[in-house]
Amino acid sequence: MNDCLFCKIIAGEIPCNKVYEDDEICAFHDISPQAPVHFLVVPKKHIPTLMDAKGEDAALLGKLLYKAQELLAARGCAEKGGRFVINCKEDGMQTVSHIHIHVLGGRPLLWPPG
Ligand code: AMP
Ligand code: ZN
Repeated sequence: MNDCLFCKIIAGEIPCNKVYEDDEICAFHDISPQAPVHFLVVPKKHIPTLMDAKGEDAALLGKLLYKAQELLAARGCAEKGGRFVINCKEDGMQTVSHIHIHVLGGRPLLWPPG
């Protein structure tokens, strides 16, 4: 966990462009945005991947998802929507091993992904 990039961001050891924070959640802009709006919503609890979540994490996961839509709506995307993505492990091309929801909006997004 000590070597986790997002844990270091949450601890303030690495700077970020913060969108939101409370006692359980942190959200910050992605360093390499793929849309006019692109931020990450992460739990402060270190959970490496969605496959590692336990039953006791269910409420936290729900809170993350609800906060993701609230924050996207607050950025003017309520009407047109956007995309909420959780990449998971190798086949999901997850590159940072700390659960995060990518929240994207502000342009039409292609489907399916490559
Ligand atoms: P994933 O590939 O789903 O694990 O997503 C990791 C995301 O973290 C990528 O979209 C990166 O651009 C983003 N990222 C990596 N380093 C940072 C950082 N220091 N601050 C903000 N976002 C980052
Ligand atoms: Zn972590």
